[in-house]
Amino acid sequence: MDLALIQAAYIIAALLFILSLAGLSKHETAKDGNILGMVGMALALVATLWLALRGAPAANWLLIAVAMAIGAGIGIWRARRVEMTGMPELIAMLHSFVGAAAVLVGFNTFLASGSEASDGVHLVEIFLGVFIGAVTFTGSIVAFLKLSARISSKPLMLPARHWLNLAALVVSAALLVWFVASHSIVPLMAMTAIALAFGWHLVASIGGGDMPVVVSMLNSYSGWAAAAAGFMLGNDLLIVTGALVGSSGAYLSYIMCTAMNRSFVSVIAGGFGSDGAVTSGDVDYGDHRETNAEEVADLLTHASSVVITPGYGMAVAQAQYPVADLTAKLRERGVDVRFGIHPVAGRLPGHMNVLLAEAKVPYDIVLEMDEINDDFPGTDVVLVIGANDTVNPAAAEDPGSPIAGMPVLQVWNAKDVVVFKRSMNAGYAGVQNPLFFRDNSAMLFGDAKERVEDIIKAL
Ligand code: NDP
Repeated sequence: MDLALIQAAYIIAALLFILSLAGLSKHETAKDGNILGMVGMALALVATLWLALRGAPAANWLLIAVAMAIGAGIGIWRARRVEMTGMPELIAMLHSFVGAAAVLVGFNTFLASGSEASDGVHLVEIFLGVFIGAVTFTGSIVAFLKLSARISSKPLMLPARHWLNLAALVVSAALLVWFVASHSIVPLMAMTAIALAFGWHLVASIGGGDMPVVVSMLNSYSGWAAAAAGFMLGNDLLIVTGALVGSSGAYLSYIMCTAMNRSFVSVIAGGFGSDGAVTSGDVDYGDHRETNAEEVADLLTHASSVVITPGYGMAVAQAQYPVADLTAKLRERGVDVRFGIHPVAGRLPGHMNVLLAEAKVPYDIVLEMDEINDDFPGTDVVLVIGANDTVNPAAAEDPGSPIAGMPVLQVWNAKDVVVFKRSMNAGYAGVQNPLFFRDNSAMLFGDAKERVEDIIKAL
């Protein structure tokens, strides 16, 4: 009876996860999607605990309760403290936990089941689970270090790096054969060391501009690591949940690859991104022009169409609230105001959409890059608020640029462009932006939030 109830709870939880993913695919339903996911996870936790601890001594329940209380405490503390701009690195860190868990579950399963007793299929499950887990673990740690600027976002260019990756895979395959034949822990440990180095190298060799794809790729890997742990533990729900995360993450990586004009195959093979080509960093683009809040207010007063293209700097400055106020004010005056969102603006897929939704900007004026790119020639003013790489014409015009080939918002085609930033520093990919030096561009220096507030005052 108990088992039937647990199975039913698992099926309902799996359905709730699928509905949650469906909800998360649109702004309007994203909140409901989150709630469905949370309910599904709570149900899954209760059912799994019940399954694992039926008839177990009270001490076991107590141990689990203490572990869960500590974990939940840390989780709540981190989630409450994290800034929106810190989300990507937090997520990368959480992915590394999933990887570490898969490695530990793998070793534990192997040691607990006794090497002699394990059949071949089970050993393959353990080996693959530990491999994926170890790659996810170190790959996510490097992503965390890069995203939080603790290490340089520049790609690590080891000589023969593709051959190194291939060698790691071939040696791991040989170790798998040895492992299944010998039932020994030695090949398992050797493969773990190789997989840890492989994961590290895979992400270290990817350049800053390509990090968004890495984040979603690691999300996918963490799902497969969880699914592998599900196989090892014989837990159907973990397999289903892991597969959902793995496949939706893979699909997201594919969408982001398409958006950034990168090859999906080279992404999953690791060594994509800049191949060390000459960058446009040292080119002299001439002089830039500075403007001030009053001049921008004047431009906006005479404009009939305005497009705002936000980027990471809007998140840093928390400028979304004054930006929403400015939008409302201009719309009251009959100005057609819209937003153009690049798929990798900010540091997380959907980063800008979340911020604008938080500030109650109406969804119907928030457009994707492809929906707005053709409209720039007919636009009077573009406000580039803390965006840089995502509006960089070098992506289209300079084949040596690390972001070459990445589609960007073609803001330079508008009549006037105002760029909000604090200095002439480069964006995340580390390349200078020729947009800043064009005749129709003007720089509005300072914190984006303060500058937008100044414009509202001057209007
Ligand atoms: P960028 O990182 O290219 O540029 C942000 C700009 O904001 C900088 O030029 C910075 O200039 C400015 N800025 C920072 N703080 C402030 C502030 N307080 N006020 C005003 N301006 C500020 O951002 P984009 O959004 O254009 O591009 C995203 C980049 O991040 C891409 O290269 C993308 O590949 C990468 N990325 C994206 C991820 C995703 O999933 N979306 C994940 C990981 C990386 P200054 O310092 O002079 O103020």
